[in-house]
Amino acid sequence: MARRMTLEGAKVKAVCEIMPYSSGLKRNVVQCLNDFDIPLYLSHTITKIHGKDRVSGVTISKVDQNKRPIPNTDLYFDCDTILFSVGLIPENELSIDLGVPLSQKTKGAIVYQDRQTLVEGVFACGNVLHVHDLVDFVLEEASLAGESASNYVKYGAIARNSIDCVNGKNIGYVLPQKIDKNISGDVKVYFRVTNEFRNSKIVCENNGRVIKEKTKKVALPGEMEYMILTEKDLKSVDGEISFSLEERG
Ligand SMILES: Cc1cc2nc3c(=O)[nH]c(=O)nc-3n(C[C@H](O)[C@H](O)[C@H](O)COP(=O)(O)OP(=O)(O)OC[C@H]3O[C@@H](n4cnc5c(N)ncnc54)[C@H](O)[C@@H]3O)c2cc1C
Repeated sequence: MARRMTLEGAKVKAVCEIMPYSSGLKRNVVQCLNDFDIPLYLSHTITKIHGKDRVSGVTISKVDQNKRPIPNTDLYFDCDTILFSVGLIPENELSIDLGVPLSQKTKGAIVYQDRQTLVEGVFACGNVLHVHDLVDFVLEEASLAGESASNYVKYGAIARNSIDCVNGKNIGYVLPQKIDKNISGDVKVYFRVTNEFRNSKIVCENNGRVIKEKTKKVALPGEMEYMILTEKDLKSVDGEISFSLEERG
């Protein structure tokens, strides 16, 4: 929106983000803010909106680790418009009407690896399931859900014997939340980290046993990550598998 407003002739004086990092893609910060010299104030929030009949200015302040404004860090901007852009959440009216159980973490449906929800015959993919950064991931997920729905129509329901996938330390959510034990082929498990991490290790474990791990130079909450689990990885799993991020210093 900052770039669009600039292209339409507005002077965007500041983009203010309460978190210490951008929750969007890095490339969007570069292409939509940096390339247009729009300042990004991280760890800042609006503390006062000025004006009577319309906006005449705004005060922002730096926040501490608990997102509380820090005294004497105010910055004032003269302005006539404030635009709020406070994130995306899945649009769940259809899922709720169908009685589909939702995840508190993704705010979308809980799904198996084939993207069937916990209501038989109802499949979900794309932003109704979890917010995607790129349409490429949506297409991949839509193909999977479409193929699974087609198989359901042709062959009926699958007998489920599933493993739960849960998020551990420093991981915000994991999707799918359930994986059938006897699958053939690989499963791509998507997740998001909870903070900005450098030199970290993502670990997938079952009862303390490492199933798979991978190192990440940079991991950002705004950029969805994934790990591929093979049929072999899942064969000996007993109980749930968890994904966590370890800082390597
Ligand atoms: C500002 C912004 C910029 C982005 N830029 C990029 C980019 O540059 N490159 C990129 O790859 N991705 C980008 N994305 C991400 C990408 O747009 C999304 O990941 C993708 O559009 C999600 O696809 P979807 O089909 O799941 O959902 P949507 O594209 O949101 O489609 C869902 C559709 O369902 C309709 N709908 C909702 N409820 C109902 C209902 N009850 N009945 C019938 N229809 C309904 C909605 O109206 C909507 O048309 C961007 C996203 C945003 C928000």
